[in-house]
Amino acid sequence: MLGHESPVISRASGCWLYTTDGRRLFDGAASMWCNVHGHQNPRLDAAISEQLGRVAHVTTLGMCCDVTLQLAEKLVQTCPSELEHIFFSSDGASAVEAAIKMAMQYWRQCDDPQPGKTRYLALGGAYHGDTTGGVSLGGIEYFHSIFSPLLFDPIRGPLPCSLRLPDGVRPESATEHYGGEIEGLLRQHHQSLAAVVMEPLVQGAAGIITHPVGFLAKVRELCDRFDVLLICDEVATGFGRTGEMFACDHESVTPDILCLGKGITGGYLPMAATVATRKVFEAFLGEIGERRQFFHGHTYGGNALAAAVALASLELFAETDLMAHVQSTAARMRERLAPLASIENVVEVRGRGMMVGIEMAVDGLASRVCQNAFRRGIWIRPLGEVVVLTPPLVATTDELDDVVDVLTEAIDEESQK
Ligand code: PMP
Repeated sequence: MLGHESPVISRASGCWLYTTDGRRLFDGAASMWCNVHGHQNPRLDAAISEQLGRVAHVTTLGMCCDVTLQLAEKLVQTCPSELEHIFFSSDGASAVEAAIKMAMQYWRQCDDPQPGKTRYLALGGAYHGDTTGGVSLGGIEYFHSIFSPLLFDPIRGPLPCSLRLPDGVRPESATEHYGGEIEGLLRQHHQSLAAVVMEPLVQGAAGIITHPVGFLAKVRELCDRFDVLLICDEVATGFGRTGEMFACDHESVTPDILCLGKGITGGYLPMAATVATRKVFEAFLGEIGERRQFFHGHTYGGNALAAAVALASLELFAETDLMAHVQSTAARMRERLAPLASIENVVEVRGRGMMVGIEMAVDGLASRVCQNAFRRGIWIRPLGEVVVLTPPLVATTDELDDVVDVLTEAIDEESQK
């Protein structure tokens, strides 16, 4: 990209990145929303070293590594109840691709087969990764539309934004309003729908769009009523980012299939998982000759080094009571960011937990604010007209106070021009 300066990082520690030209930057993007316990965390470093002393990788196709099995068991205990079976891959987009295929194959092989269920309902502004299936579900015009000749066509639902409501819709009736739209689409299309696919609670790449409270639970209820699977893509929201271990936990929802990635390894190594309920799993169970298995596999799925660090990350969550830390630091950060909304050119400050979006009113402003923050030692990235802040979950109150001060200066600098 012309005119773009990319810092080169040679070392990182805690929430801080160190560049080859001697600068120190706060990792306000958590290395693309995935860093949890900080960089060079001694426990995570040790977990990888120890695993390296045993085995780095064996396939998970037809065999598996003991540490991968331990991780699968631990993930089952951590995920919302009834999600009991894990399919490992290496990145979030692959976790979504697996979920899409799993849902379709499920309807061919379940007790009451419905082979006509081959379509998906995706939300407005959806983002599910950059592979062809993920892009097909995607609803972000400037990311996705150019690829339309390659894509399948989902049923498109609303963008259920909790803050900017359609005319005549009040905050207390927002869930009913958007739920009604989903209900209408399910009523019309349920016979051809394999699954509803959604980012629960917060749509990240759409610009940290928060959903009205109760919307997720409503979609779950509607999927049950119309016999459509629910796939929740928690690649971004999973592993504590919204202030609970999973976004689904906020509304006590269990999807039929859950997609995980990013923070699963604490932000250390590529790993993702597609987690299914026993109901889904059992549709694939059969003798070898029956060919009921899931026809999908990845060379590095379940990689032992990634599994070792993921296991250590889950142990750290419990030992450090990280969720309580996130809840208190995020609440303070949001309180201190709230006054920014009254600055001219700031449309809105929104978010949930450690996912914050500051929407700017003028084209190109979000990008300039990020550049101003970069000059002041904070690394953040814009998404369209939204300044996005997603610090590592371990960031301290002092660090976050400084980040808010710098961000305020970075926005003020533009207002003064
Ligand atoms: N789903 C969601 C909700 C995401 O935010 C992302 C990545 N930002 C993905 C899927 C894709 O994950 P990956 O980049 O690891 O392929």
